[in-house]
Amino acid sequence: MKRIHKLRTMHYAPITILVLGSWFLGFGLCGCQSHQFYVNSRIMMGTIIEVTSVHKEAAGVVFGELERLENLLSKYKPESEVSQLNKKAKLKVSPETFFIVKKAKEFSTLSSGAFDITVGPLVDLWGFTDKNFTVPADEKIKNILKLIGSDKILLHNNESVIKFKFPGMKIDLGAIAKGYAVDCAVKKLKEKGINSCLINAGGQVYCLGEKFGRPWRVAIKGVLNSDFSGFVELTDKSVATSGDYEQFFIQDNKRYAHIINPKTGYPADSGVISVTVIAPDGLTADALSTAIFVLGKERGEKLAEKFKGVEVKIYAQDNL
Ligand code: ADP
Ligand code: MG
Repeated sequence: MKRIHKLRTMHYAPITILVLGSWFLGFGLCGCQSHQFYVNSRIMMGTIIEVTSVHKEAAGVVFGELERLENLLSKYKPESEVSQLNKKAKLKVSPETFFIVKKAKEFSTLSSGAFDITVGPLVDLWGFTDKNFTVPADEKIKNILKLIGSDKILLHNNESVIKFKFPGMKIDLGAIAKGYAVDCAVKKLKEKGINSCLINAGGQVYCLGEKFGRPWRVAIKGVLNSDFSGFVELTDKSVATSGDYEQFFIQDNKRYAHIINPKTGYPADSGVISVTVIAPDGLTADALSTAIFVLGKERGEKLAEKFKGVEVKIYAQDNL
């Protein structure tokens, strides 16, 4: 019998809260001082985006930039460059779309194909795009594997043209776009002279500057249940987590998560439950956490060593 559980349905409305609080400065040496900051959230890019800053205008800057990038990069927006490229298999794109696809190709090479944005047709086949989850026939998966591989994305540098080698190919930037978008938002904030802000884009976090002279504290979500398993303290760093509890369905007692192994066409099954990556930028944290989830603990740790200023925390089944 086919039993499917759907998870992660969200029914949040955009909210704006002014948070008032007291913090000790310098571990109490200077006494107690009252501060206020703003927490704004909005649903975008298929998740909840939360912006925390003492600057009232920070959230508007972040939301504006994320909206612009969602319109460019989302496969769910029919007019986006990514949707148009997926439809036409050849497109002259903006420098930003070109940049992110080029970066994605680099991550694919570095991770020996574990990270691959050409997984689009597989993500569709398994029902992760329209949330109509299904376990496809093995033969169907095998057929689609012919369309997978970042070497089949051809980049014409001079004209900013992206071309697919085969019709039917589709790119899905779900594992890299949020990280890139957060980096762009941080750049915009800095341009406006805002140098203290916490952005949380559904678990893709960037800590800009400090919070009242101390690093931002970020909770890392637990792996077995919804409790968080600890804190990290960060300044000018991004942190991202990829986990098999993020988006998945269960059929006949087997769990299928939304990160696909591009080599097999099946959801990644490396024994990793959750990967947290701390990196100097959001794009690296985002792409790397997905790649490590596919590669598994040992190969994942080796991959992380290739990156400067990166720390990883991997929970594998044998850790527990
Ligand atoms: P989340 O979006 O939940 O933070 P990830 O950053 O790990 O999680 O991205 C997962 C998404 O990336 C999937 O929903 C899918 O759209 C896409 N994807 C799935 N498998 C891969 C893969 N091997 N390489 C690149 N992108 C992938
Ligand atoms: Mg990712």
